[in-house]
Amino acid sequence: MENKDWKNIGFGYSRSDYNVRCWYKNGQWGPLEISDSEHINMHIAATCLHYGQECFEGLKAFMGKDGKVRVFRMEENAKRMQSSCDGILMPKLPIEIFNEAVSLAVKKNMKFIPPYGCGASLYIRPLLIGTGPEIGVKPAEEYLFMVFVMPVGPYFPEGFKPTDLLIMREYDRAAPQGTGKYKVGGNYAASLIAGKEAKKGGFSAVLYLDSKEKKYLDECGPANFFGIKNNTYVTPKSDSILPSITNMSLIQLAKDLGMEVERRKVPVEELESFEEVGACGTAAVISPIKRVYDADIDKEYNYGTEAGPMSTKLYEKLRAIQDGDEPDVHNWNTIIESI
Ligand SMILES: *Cc1c(COP(=O)(O)O)cnc(C)c1O
Repeated sequence: MENKDWKNIGFGYSRSDYNVRCWYKNGQWGPLEISDSEHINMHIAATCLHYGQECFEGLKAFMGKDGKVRVFRMEENAKRMQSSCDGILMPKLPIEIFNEAVSLAVKKNMKFIPPYGCGASLYIRPLLIGTGPEIGVKPAEEYLFMVFVMPVGPYFPEGFKPTDLLIMREYDRAAPQGTGKYKVGGNYAASLIAGKEAKKGGFSAVLYLDSKEKKYLDECGPANFFGIKNNTYVTPKSDSILPSITNMSLIQLAKDLGMEVERRKVPVEELESFEEVGACGTAAVISPIKRVYDADIDKEYNYGTEAGPMSTKLYEKLRAIQDGDEPDVHNWNTIIESI
């Protein structure tokens, strides 16, 4: 194992030893290839460069106290990538290729997996890009699927600390019937300006409203939104939200804890009545929120300076399953054997 200050390695890119690649050519997927290069050689007219034919995934592997390596809900990421493929007309990557490539990328980089208990983990980044040349607007005939990994630090090196969200109506992340529900790079390019403005004001992210009516909560730039009140976990329903696997897992855990769950349209004004709110995604699991500021009407909603009890409970439960400290009753983890 590498010797590092695991707690403070942060979230930047870092090199690991190997990545895994798989080409789609002549209408079929080739074998998995292992590479030790951080670069790819690509045609200047590749569709990913010009027309954004690109989708990606993000998931994590954790080292358990028992020395076993667990990847969290890999199958769900594989299915979501298939949905992204359908969304931007890329050939559907078979689930087995996704799973094998992720497992192989982890196996080949075991020494980069942070030790149990330090809060850090191995971040896994699968991506699929159109590599075939086209200048007319149409899907490529060739594609490259890749998986690379890197250790990332705990999202909260100083503890589970709440941050602020910003509502602004002049920016949209995705159109109502657009690509918001797919994990594609284009959505992220579209959200950079608003994200930068939010960071400038000291907010951790933008909380987007639905782009059509600006009446309902949608999601944050890179994370889903939830609120808790009266022992009920409430999360917005909308066609432009990316279906977060963390959110899906928290919904299950909320039910396990005896809470009610509602997935429905959530009017902005309902922010007033939540006892706790949070953003959820792979990076932080839950990022508790202490304040939502609606800049257009200069109104703020406050949730206390410490993470709420239910958010804390849900967070700890999910983290314990990932670390292998609690029984994996829903079969969410894939154990990766070393080679
Ligand atoms: C990836 C992503 C999320 C979080 O999804 P997880 O599967 O929980 O990591 C939320 N919103 C957007 C826009 C995303 O791209």
